Amino acid sequence: MKNIIILGSTGSIGTQTLEVIEKLENYKVKALSCGKNIELLKKQIEKFKPEYVCTQNSTDAENLSKEYPEIDFFYGEDGLLELIKTTYDVLVVATSGIVSVKTVLKAIENKKTIALANKETLVMAGNIVMQKAKKYNTPIIPIDSEHSAILQCLNKTDNPYAKRLWITASGGPFLNNTREEMANFTVKEALKHPRWNMGKKITIDCATLVNKGLEVIEAHHLYNFDYEKIKVVIHPESLVHSFVEFTDGSFLAQIGLPSMHIPIQYALTYPKRENGIKTDSFCPWSRQMNFMEPDFNKFPLLKLTIDCGKKDGLMPAILNAANEMAVYKFLEGKINFLDIEKIVFKEVETAKNIQNPTIEEIFATDKEIRLKLSKI
Ligand code: MG
Repeated sequence: MKNIIILGSTGSIGTQTLEVIEKLENYKVKALSCGKNIELLKKQIEKFKPEYVCTQNSTDAENLSKEYPEIDFFYGEDGLLELIKTTYDVLVVATSGIVSVKTVLKAIENKKTIALANKETLVMAGNIVMQKAKKYNTPIIPIDSEHSAILQCLNKTDNPYAKRLWITASGGPFLNNTREEMANFTVKEALKHPRWNMGKKITIDCATLVNKGLEVIEAHHLYNFDYEKIKVVIHPESLVHSFVEFTDGSFLAQIGLPSMHIPIQYALTYPKRENGIKTDSFCPWSRQMNFMEPDFNKFPLLKLTIDCGKKDGLMPAILNAANEMAVYKFLEGKINFLDIEKIVFKEVETAKNIQNPTIEEIFATDKEIRLKLSKI
């Protein structure tokens, strides 16, 4: 029996993780954590019967503990740290924000597999997180489809014959629009992702291609590849989830329907594969697949994000915070789509970088930028 903890159980990845667990044999939900969607949490509690639950605020934890006396309830950031003190086999991190970074850093000490869906962890603190994971020999298995594809193609993370990583990108909803058209796009239009069904923030990041830049940074940390050896290729059909190119000229691709169930299940069952959840059957050769180079002029944030990765130090955290704040302003209807890049460029261009920052310095920078941009 594998015991699973899911942080962020009511979000997009969290709910899909539970759908996967439901179909797997010998997987038990040990603990759940969620933010404010208590109605959904209750349904999950009744169905999966966890032993421990953590909510964001104390009132929810108090009320729920009266309703479910057999469960131990915790709340807040400290509550998450209590959850990871329990015995488990896989910790699924599907929460957003820096709370995940703190939890992951602590959980690494448990030496149990971390199935990571949260992007900030590796983008903001990739060096610190990977060094610590190496020290404790803790596997960090990505849930993101592209990194899961690379892991599946590499077979082992230090494959000496791997030459380059080719990360595929759908190109988002504005792939075929001009910049003039993009300026006038509404929130609703930007949220219409052609292939994937995801949370709002990440869907906008797919429209600006920031998401792909963040994935390049994550791949750099996860697989210890220089930035020069990580390429982005646009593939609108989202069937090839990434390629690994080898020194002899061979390429391996991982192919599957665009469903997060597959990489989630692989992260839970890694290094094995199990039957579990199945997507609709399909033959890759029955579909047309197209590939093209990304247009860095049309999507300048893609290049900026990768450049921030190359600059290292605080730059990825600065870009991440500025982008997140700008995306929220766009979602609130306060700025137009192309203003996102104006805000992010301004922050990055005026920021002061330092190399090898401590985790406290990273968090302080993140906080400072968020506070500054909240006033827009
Ligand atoms: Mg992805």
